[in-house]
Amino acid sequence: MNIQANLKEVLSELPANVRLVAVSKFHPQEAIMEAYQAGQRIFGESKVQEMTEKYEALPKDIQWHFIGHLQTNKIKYMAPYVAMIHGVDSYKLLADINKQAAKCNRRIPCLLQLHIAQEETKFGFSFDECTAMLETENWKSLDHVALQGVMGMASNTDNMEQVKNEFQSLHTYFQQIKKQFFADAPDFKEISMGMSHDYPIALQEGSTMIRVGSKIFGERVY
Ligand SMILES: *Cc1c(COP(=O)(O)O)cnc(C)c1O
Repeated sequence: MNIQANLKEVLSELPANVRLVAVSKFHPQEAIMEAYQAGQRIFGESKVQEMTEKYEALPKDIQWHFIGHLQTNKIKYMAPYVAMIHGVDSYKLLADINKQAAKCNRRIPCLLQLHIAQEETKFGFSFDECTAMLETENWKSLDHVALQGVMGMASNTDNMEQVKNEFQSLHTYFQQIKKQFFADAPDFKEISMGMSHDYPIALQEGSTMIRVGSKIFGERVY
């Protein structure tokens, strides 16, 4: 695996307004340092304990993005340092993040995770659930979280037309809630979509943040 060459290849395809989250979950610190030495600073992890160990050991200018499924009792471990939480899919989680962020005197950037895939196993709000949550306006009093956009995962399928439609639906939904709830919030601007096998389609459909792991670091060994 030539991590630096893989990284450069992915970066060379990115428009200027799109950021890469290098998904380093299950890969060792040495692999992260190889990407770091090539200039990568944003890394994505899906387990809080693993991310925290890496945060403690590695350079402090790394921005750690949490992309996994959130558990309330783990939020406190990452609240002091996490740069962005991608997978918020309930008001309760948002309120829990707010509480832990307040203790650290921070405002943590968060993305609303939408369920866009056909598979039932994926987490996330339905569009209707998310809109209903935003309509309550309770979130507006959460001063220690910053809603900055949406995140979604397409179906794991070879049907690229379906994947394209799913990404398109997320982009359309983003524009709708941006207009309805975040018209005065310039920071609400992220559409986190696209993984190793589908990020070229996500880029065509307006992604601002791709989350790429195996294409950079190789297959994960669990
Ligand atoms: C693991 C993971 C990725 C990266 O997947 P690859 O196929 O290795 O690029 C992206 N997003 C989420 C939410 C993940 O859990």
